[in-house]
Amino acid sequence: MSDFNSYENWQERDLNHIWHPCSQMKDYETLKPIIIDHGKGIYLYDKNGKEYIDIVSSWWCNLLGHCHPKINESVKNQIDKLEHVIFANFSHEPAITLCEQLCEIIPKGLTKFNFSDNGSAAVECSLKMAFQYQYQQGKPKKTRFMCLSDGYHGETIGALSVGTMDLYAKIYKPMLMDTIRIDAPDCYRCKYGKCRDNCNCECFESAEKSFEQFADQTAAVIVEPLLQGSAGMKIYPPLYIKKLRQACDKYDVLLIADEIATGFGRTGKMFAFDHAGVSPDIMCISKGLTGGYMPMAITVVTDEIYNAFYADYNEGKAFMHSHTYSGNPLGCACALAVQQIFKEDNILENSQNRAIYLNQKLMEKLGDYKHTGEIRHIGLINAIELVENPKTKQAFDSKSRTGYQIYKKALEYGLLLRPLGDVIYFNPPLIINEQEIDKAIDICCRAIYDILG
Ligand SMILES: *Cc1c(COP(=O)(O)O)cnc(C)c1O
Repeated sequence: MSDFNSYENWQERDLNHIWHPCSQMKDYETLKPIIIDHGKGIYLYDKNGKEYIDIVSSWWCNLLGHCHPKINESVKNQIDKLEHVIFANFSHEPAITLCEQLCEIIPKGLTKFNFSDNGSAAVECSLKMAFQYQYQQGKPKKTRFMCLSDGYHGETIGALSVGTMDLYAKIYKPMLMDTIRIDAPDCYRCKYGKCRDNCNCECFESAEKSFEQFADQTAAVIVEPLLQGSAGMKIYPPLYIKKLRQACDKYDVLLIADEIATGFGRTGKMFAFDHAGVSPDIMCISKGLTGGYMPMAITVVTDEIYNAFYADYNEGKAFMHSHTYSGNPLGCACALAVQQIFKEDNILENSQNRAIYLNQKLMEKLGDYKHTGEIRHIGLINAIELVENPKTKQAFDSKSRTGYQIYKKALEYGLLLRPLGDVIYFNPPLIINEQEIDKAIDICCRAIYDILG
């Protein structure tokens, strides 16, 4: 009989009741849940005191390290004042101040903030807004959405409909909206034989065709700017976003930016759209918004969109959409602390320097490795696509679950990798330092060599 408080017993009790996200629970027979006790900076510690480097920022949301003293303090102060209040007709200082501050850093033209509580909800909100906007502008035929292949926008039915990854969506197809698919850029396996650093986005022709054919039925196009995260950290050039903006203007289609993964410095600029020097009509933000502390998301829109809903009540034009936890003050307090830390600690600039270091080190260690297909990077995000044969770019047999084997090995050594298929990636908190980078790369290499030789 194991001790009630033993590590193994906690694992057993977890499995008695908890259905973990995005998991085949049978896998937990061999890899039991890791019971985390506390976190500090880029580190997590389990109940046995074992240390893990959180190189994936706990699903890309932890922006400034775990248990950051300034964010902790901000939550503690807020919780003694106001934990939550209905957000219809009521408001509070943290939400108001947050919107004012975000206005200074988001792409220009975005001015109105609609709060929800997770990324998928922010995407749903953007789709409903775009649809209703078109209707109220006298364009009731514009009811459909365009999206990119290999896109990911969350797990709810609307968000899945504009997502295109079979892994998450295939089984639900009968439940989903009929969307228009554009072939996304695929820079590693470019069909045009170009390279992402100096191409003219020849691949935009697929988008161009879709606009020509379907724009009159299309309310909006949604895009993960520069980085298709879940697809395996696929990175494409800013020019594509510029072209998308031009096409949207030409064909009268709204442009929705899903900056849930890319926002708040992840790509080296505050937002991915900043690289392209253009603005979307609607922007979804979440994940890093609260530093990874609280579930909060915002759908931000232009005055033009907001004004299409603004009318006498009896005209029935209001956006009748709500979430119970809209504008939660604790989430806003976290987000305000994050903004303060960005300024005080020069986060963006410092992380850019570390980004150069991280990429150089990875290239040194793994650039010429026999199974490295490509190492691609943007900001601190670095992805290593492992393939059977780099010359032919032939992938490993997916049944051998190469990435998963490496994941398990790295955990043994104290690194939380969680690969996307056979793409191993680093997406660390922006505060990671050079020693920590060295340590993570070291473990990562050891795990890869253990599995692949
Ligand atoms: C994580 C993510 C979402 C969904 O956010 P959730 O909070 O998990 O619902 C949507 N889009 C992108 C690009 C994401 O990375």
